[in-house]
Amino acid sequence: ERAKLLATLSGSKQPTQSARSWSLPGAEEMDIMARGAAALGIADPFFRVHDAIAGAQSAIAGRDYINFSSYDYLGLNGRPEIAARVAGAVERYGTTVSASRMVSGERPIHRELEGALAEWHGAEDAVVMVSGHATNVTTIAQIMQPGDLIVHDSLAHNSLIQGAILSGARRVSFAHNAVDAAREQLWMHRRAHKRALLVLEGHYSMDGDVPDLAAFIALAREFDCLTLVDEAHATGVLGATGRGIAEHAGIDPRDVDLWMGTMSKSLVSCGGYIAGSADIIRYLKRAAPGFVYSVGVSPPTAAAALGALDLIRQEPWRLERLAANATLLLTCLREAGFDTGTSDGHGIVPLVTGSSLTAGRLAQAVFERGINVQPIIHPAVPERAARLRFFVSASHTEAQLRDTVMILRQEMDRLSA
Ligand code: PMP
Repeated sequence: ERAKLLATLSGSKQPTQSARSWSLPGAEEMDIMARGAAALGIADPFFRVHDAIAGAQSAIAGRDYINFSSYDYLGLNGRPEIAARVAGAVERYGTTVSASRMVSGERPIHRELEGALAEWHGAEDAVVMVSGHATNVTTIAQIMQPGDLIVHDSLAHNSLIQGAILSGARRVSFAHNAVDAAREQLWMHRRAHKRALLVLEGHYSMDGDVPDLAAFIALAREFDCLTLVDEAHATGVLGATGRGIAEHAGIDPRDVDLWMGTMSKSLVSCGGYIAGSADIIRYLKRAAPGFVYSVGVSPPTAAAALGALDLIRQEPWRLERLAANATLLLTCLREAGFDTGTSDGHGIVPLVTGSSLTAGRLAQAVFERGINVQPIIHPAVPERAARLRFFVSASHTEAQLRDTVMILRQEMDRLSA
């Protein structure tokens, strides 16, 4: 379907000024896809402007929507307790630290946050950086080098892959969540490389599933690999107190060398961090370019994350609500006959349509009926894996979730008729 669309539309393509002068990689296909969607009457579902806080509900262009596109899993964004802490930090330290922490950007709130994150992950220490993406890139690129091996899940986030590429190490991937496939890669490549790093996520953002962490840790031991687990979508989502996959799987967090996390999701702030041994953290603070040559996290940003960590501890009902909501959405979608892939129902639920066109049309149809959910289309995923992806929040009501499934079923039937 997509190939036909591309073939039809590429004939009529008028080069844009930038395409003529620069020929940017991928720009031509992007342009063809955009015009193809427009020709089919599908409005661009990206860069939608949310008028205020976008949580379980959101106002877009003056209309209220049930919202499934926010990573604020616990519904903490805008909580007055957090806002008050942010205001206090601004009053005391201002809005920026204006320099790398190594030079003159260090403030007490940085170490306070790093102490809280280290404790959160049961690690000796932690370091926070200004972006989650940059944290992965700079950390992996710094600790690995040519002659080393990086083995990662095939669905690893772009930032993990960019870091691996930049490191110059040999990079191999294994089929999603397949321990045997990872063993095969290690068996084939480990001996020829000096050091090895096994890279996983605690909770995968496209499929909403969770790896068998115990089995991967055993594998890492068997092949003498360092381990890095990205907890971007696991923090505040997995485990009885929200501490992520180690708590969920009942594993000693010290069995993982590097815990990576973001402050932009359940921690309703911005930035990334690594938690691990004091030696590794000291090393990163002196060596990782994304930390050394970049500004320290801003005081309000640090204060928001600290406030969120406190609220997660004080209000455990949020974790229970998130779990109940995610299970409800997953169950209702399945009962309504939808393909929810391999989701474990912890907070991310895909609705696999198997076609980018259907995903785009369904997303638009439900948007017109008051539901904001993003389609994930080729090339972000293979065409047969095109989907709508739902991020569930502790703040969704049961009625919102049930209404959503009912509307999805009605619109899907209408599209297939
Ligand atoms: N890792 C994963 C698994 C992610 O999903 C993301 C972003 N969605 C990041 C890292 C980057 O984090 P940030 O958006 O906070 O930069």
